[in-house]
Amino acid sequence: MGEFELIRRYFDRHREHTDPGNPVVLGIGDDCALLAPRPGTQLAISTDMLVEGRHFFADVDPEALGHKALAVNLSDLAAMGARPLAFTLALALPEAQPAWLEGFAKGLFDLADTHQCQLIGGDTTRGPLNICITVFGEIPVENGQSLALCRSGARAGDDLYVSGHLGEARLALLALQGELSLPAAQLQQARLRLERPTPRVALGLALRGIASAAIDVSDGLAGDLGHLLKSSNLGLSLKLDLIIDNFASNLVAYSAIAKITNSENYSNIYSKNVLDLILTGGDDYELAFTAPPHLRNAVQQAANLACTRVSRIGQMESGMGMRLIDPAGQTAELATASFDHFKA
Ligand code: ADP
Ligand code: MG
Repeated sequence: MGEFELIRRYFDRHREHTDPGNPVVLGIGDDCALLAPRPGTQLAISTDMLVEGRHFFADVDPEALGHKALAVNLSDLAAMGARPLAFTLALALPEAQPAWLEGFAKGLFDLADTHQCQLIGGDTTRGPLNICITVFGEIPVENGQSLALCRSGARAGDDLYVSGHLGEARLALLALQGELSLPAAQLQQARLRLERPTPRVALGLALRGIASAAIDVSDGLAGDLGHLLKSSNLGLSLKLDLIIDNFASNLVAYSAIAKITNSENYSNIYSKNVLDLILTGGDDYELAFTAPPHLRNAVQQAANLACTRVSRIGQMESGMGMRLIDPAGQTAELATASFDHFKA
């Protein structure tokens, strides 16, 4: 199978566009694709690359990989409050294996169809497995103002929220690496979070006009919040009791941690390990966002509309840095170092 046969067979779906509202004017097949953003909108553009051995194991299920490659990109659109429109796919493959390509394309297009996000072009070459996707999304401009949820928009006094359950993807990774053992049912649940993350697109859209700032949590909460703090020029206090209230139901994490620590002391287990997973585990693809306290009801309504759980866990402050405050009022400074591919 040659390069063009491969593109035709697995990636070019010859979609007909009868819908006049479709922003894709020209898809795969020419030197460029053509997008026509609707009047009164901005294009949101983001690229993410997945490299074998760095972002995924060589033997990962190709369908899960196709899903994740697009999911991590859609997560960036979600964090900006952008509606997905289209994407391109640059693919380096060691060889053209039909079974692998079929699985990969299925995972990719199942998620693309869920979000009505069309593949409009790309590049295909032989080489070490590497998947690079660029997504295009749409953000309305109202009264001359973009509704984009930027990292820089938080204000002192804003509440901090996160979606979903943090830490489960890292838990699965630790289990797959043999660092800890999980019961089969729980491994399966955690693995879904690692291999098939759900981009919080609906939540990002629902938070337009409500959230003051947002970021997606891909490299661990503490590090990603560090980016948001830097952009907004603010500090933050995280409330340990709110984190515990909101994550104590995370039984997957709790019971697994109990197995490695073999300790009877709940608060010990919690603070040392579950908190670590929540703050530094990567690959969650949840949203962290801020909103002023008078919009708490609006945030909850947005979460309900998006059928996505959100938890309030802290508050933005004018003093720089990130603090963890326990119920007794004791304060601990937290490091905000994010995962860095080029750090030793
Ligand atoms: P060029 O020579 O201009 O780079 P190619 O011959 O690489 O174009 O690609 C032909 C067409 O197929 C282009 O429209 C390109 O966008 C599309 N294409 C190539 N690889 C992929 C891919 N992996 N997924 C989707 N479209 C692709
Ligand atoms: Mg090319």
